[in-house]
Amino acid sequence: MNKSILCDLIVVGGGPAGLTATMYAIRKKLNVLMVSKDLGGKTSYRLALPWVKDYHVIRGLDVVNSFKSELEYLNFARHMEAVDRVEKREDHFVVRTRGGAELKTKAVLIASGAKQKLLDVPGEKKFIMRGLCYSAVSYAPLFIDRTTVVVGDCKLALRAAAELAVVAKMVHLVGVCGGMLETDLGRFLNGRENVEIYNDYKVVEVLGEDFAEQIVVESPAGKKVKIESDSIFVELGLTPNAQMVAGLVDMDEQDRIVVDGLNCTSMPGIFAAGDVTNTYGEQVLIAVGEGAKAALSAYEYLLPSL
Ligand SMILES: Cc1cc2nc3c(=O)[nH]c(=O)nc-3n(C[C@H](O)[C@H](O)[C@H](O)COP(=O)(O)OP(=O)(O)OC[C@H]3O[C@@H](n4cnc5c(N)ncnc54)[C@H](O)[C@@H]3O)c2cc1C
Repeated sequence: MNKSILCDLIVVGGGPAGLTATMYAIRKKLNVLMVSKDLGGKTSYRLALPWVKDYHVIRGLDVVNSFKSELEYLNFARHMEAVDRVEKREDHFVVRTRGGAELKTKAVLIASGAKQKLLDVPGEKKFIMRGLCYSAVSYAPLFIDRTTVVVGDCKLALRAAAELAVVAKMVHLVGVCGGMLETDLGRFLNGRENVEIYNDYKVVEVLGEDFAEQIVVESPAGKKVKIESDSIFVELGLTPNAQMVAGLVDMDEQDRIVVDGLNCTSMPGIFAAGDVTNTYGEQVLIAVGEGAKAALSAYEYLLPSL
């Protein structure tokens, strides 16, 4: 594609939502360009656990691989670069990239996902996806009769601990603050014999050999405790990659792009899908469905101009 021409649609992001939306738009014969830092997004993450064989699971990458391979081949439909900013002009949008490209388009679909918040302690980087992970909702069913640690003080952490508590032998919940334990999930966790709560403790270090095996935590009084565990889930929340449209579309209190049931944002011509939005559930299959829905919605918006 000649990138100086006016596109029908620019899709920002090459994860499950962006890949699906782009392929859907190609099938609809739209003049579409996907602008992304990579192809595949967070589907490249796969939690390795010593007791789980890879063939037991359907990987996120398997779900989106055919879209990914098709886009690898269709190089005219992609531009591999980070987007800095989306700007509104009178009758079109300009997508500015970090390398200085200015791409013009009638409509934009934001599918740039969200970054998981890190613990930032020694050992974390070494064990990422080797027993240490950021998405309990994706892996909780693998923890039947296992011991696990959840770190975090937000609703996401309590939800993760509760889901794990239903199947696991033992759940250690680290870092919860008082108020959260007064919620329904907090009361549920407090009443479970297989849940130990480390109120206001902070994580000091993650230890192990090939996989994360222990976590060292410290009480407000400075007492250190080493917890043995089959895995560690860090549930500190997500930071949406939505800065590029800040001020242009409405965001919620977690800085996620607010979309309606048709994936429209508050700005006509800007659509959004996947983890960057306020849609429920950060999962590959949800992002795939939302990406298709957003592309269909954008197509309907563009129809009178085609
Ligand atoms: C550790 C981990 C493990 C997970 N495991 C599973 C699992 O087993 N099963 C499951 O269903 N879900 C899992 N999830 C959740 C799942 O990965 C996400 O819900 C899903 O990938 C969201 O898709 P998305 O397309 O919205 O965003 P992402 O997959 O995050 O893709 C975002 C895309 O946008 C691009 N991008 C970001 N910023 C910019 C920018 N400024 N300019 C251009 N491009 C940009 C990125 O490069 C990427 O291509 C896991 C999540 C994590 C963090």
